[in-house]
Amino acid sequence: MSIIKTNLNQIKSTLPQHVNLVAVSKTKPIEDLQEAYNAGQRIFGENKIQEMTDKWESLPKDIDWHMIGHVQTNKVKYMAPYVGLIHSADRLKLFKEIDKEAEKNNRIIKVLLQIKIAEEDSKFGMQPAEAKQLLDSNSFKENYPNINVVGLMGMASFVDDQDQLTREFSELQKIYDRYKEQHNFTTLSMGMSGDYKLAIAYGSTMVRVGSAIFGERNYN
Ligand SMILES: *Cc1c(COP(=O)(O)O)cnc(C)c1O
Repeated sequence: MSIIKTNLNQIKSTLPQHVNLVAVSKTKPIEDLQEAYNAGQRIFGENKIQEMTDKWESLPKDIDWHMIGHVQTNKVKYMAPYVGLIHSADRLKLFKEIDKEAEKNNRIIKVLLQIKIAEEDSKFGMQPAEAKQLLDSNSFKENYPNINVVGLMGMASFVDDQDQLTREFSELQKIYDRYKEQHNFTTLSMGMSGDYKLAIAYGSTMVRVGSAIFGERNYN
């Protein structure tokens, strides 16, 4: 059995039924994605629009492609015809662009509002206070009719400190729980290879796992 299939099965066997697995395949070759596909994986996460589009063109069309990386507004148009979920919607200018491109493609595009929870300040995401203001207002639904905000996404700091990770995950869980009913949220995307078990303990319904499936990435 291939190592990718073994890894996938091992991870899936530990996930509660309500948790979805996004296989983060950024930088990995088509063959690796095909192997994961053959093992039954259908959700793939990428962080560059060009790379995701190239892969979308050459792989089976029933794959659900998730954009998990920082999105430049001028590139939204390339993924608008096919993207399944954008995890990284973190500013109104981007909402506006996604809405416009969704309409052009006669689609409603699903997004997650990315909120900055990491105490280290290198990560993208809307500040929690600003996010709460937006979620309180309800007006973004009227302003962006071709977008469906189905939940929230967050990235914890890249640290081993369990207390810090716990603080960060629980902050996002609190925001999620507060707005879940009002906005019919279904998805809380948090947790990666190193911390997904902890994230699930704090309410994650979607984990984004890369290196634990495909092995370490080589960025050269
Ligand atoms: C790369 C990436 C992941 C996966 O990271 P691993 O540690 O390899 O599991 C998850 N989420 C985002 C936003 C990423 O960019």
